[in-house]
Amino acid sequence: MRSLFAKRINDIPKSFIREILKVIDNPEIISFAGGLPNPEFFPVEEIKEASNKVLAEDGTNVLQYSTTEGYLPLREYIADRYFKKQGLKISPEQILITNGSQQGLDLIGKTFLNEGDGLIIEEPGYLGAIQSFSFYRPKFNSVPLLEDGVDLEVLKDTLAENDCKLFYGVPNFQNPSGITYSDNKRRAVAKLLEESNTIFVEDDPYGELRFIGEDIPLIKNYLKDNTILLGSFSKIVAPAFRLGWVVMSMDKMEKAIVAKQASDLHSNYFAQRVIYQYLIDNDIDQHISRIKEVYGRQREMMVNSIKEYFPPEISFTEPEGGMFLWITLPKELSSLELFDMAIKEKVAFVPGSPFYVNGQGKNTLRLNYSNVAEEKIEEGIKSLAKVIKRAIN
Ligand code: PMP
Repeated sequence: MRSLFAKRINDIPKSFIREILKVIDNPEIISFAGGLPNPEFFPVEEIKEASNKVLAEDGTNVLQYSTTEGYLPLREYIADRYFKKQGLKISPEQILITNGSQQGLDLIGKTFLNEGDGLIIEEPGYLGAIQSFSFYRPKFNSVPLLEDGVDLEVLKDTLAENDCKLFYGVPNFQNPSGITYSDNKRRAVAKLLEESNTIFVEDDPYGELRFIGEDIPLIKNYLKDNTILLGSFSKIVAPAFRLGWVVMSMDKMEKAIVAKQASDLHSNYFAQRVIYQYLIDNDIDQHISRIKEVYGRQREMMVNSIKEYFPPEISFTEPEGGMFLWITLPKELSSLELFDMAIKEKVAFVPGSPFYVNGQGKNTLRLNYSNVAEEKIEEGIKSLAKVIKRAIN
């Protein structure tokens, strides 16, 4: 019998999180499940002004087809920001504008992965990357995360025992764990990857959202040519623009442009023009400071409530930025079973096992604090604590 669907689509499950979000579409539920930025910070008025301005000043052009690489002044702006923030010298020609960093992940898969190619991913890893790369049928090798980043011993062994083309990681305030790599670990990872000629795919949508401690240089600083760096406007301006970017060396860029052309010709040019106008007419640093201040408070409220209400056998991460915190329950508990109990208590989270490519993580879960009002956080954590205590006893 001929199968209607391609094998590649039949093999890949729906995003577990998107399915969960449907279940908890009930305003009475306090949801720590989503991965959404706080909409309070969407610059609605400023975007309205920027849209009006580009339409008034250059209306026919901003509605026309454009180049695959993306709007040059926007790429120059991004390059300039990397120099100011990180001292990183990147030419605008090395930046490709994409439909969110999520498209960047797909283009990387399309450009670099043959079926069976070795790919390293953090454990737990970003679900959207697991889904995106799965279409290219790589051989996943997962390396556990420790408190200060990936486990170097396991990484070393994995690189020695497998031919790994890419290592995908999120060194700043990782999704789902909230973990950040220390500077020493970044240097060590860069050295190991250099020696094994493995490309680091450095996904950094949260890097600007640090509310505790000092910024740490990107791994791109330590592994210049062999890093592909992804960035996004989703968490610092608004996700609906679907605008992100990929930074890579010119030889890689030439191929990625072909992949992007075949996918969509170019990203929404009007959106690129509006966001650029918004960026040059407003103080984005001030805007980001406000986001960080509130996320910092929400995170503090969550951490303090966990300390107060959760039983001592529960461990959790204490993120220095970003939007997520990771909970590890005693081994014998299942976060999937806990999820059903939690919904009855009107609180939701994301069970951790979908973030593992090896079927583990059954006793883990992810909590989001950025999209829950401060006063609701304590109430939600209290309910969750009740459910956990009941499950333990
Ligand atoms: N990478 C990571 C680690 C993420 O958490 C997200 C958003 N959930 C993305 C990429 C995709 O972001 P966007 O496509 O909106 O830029």
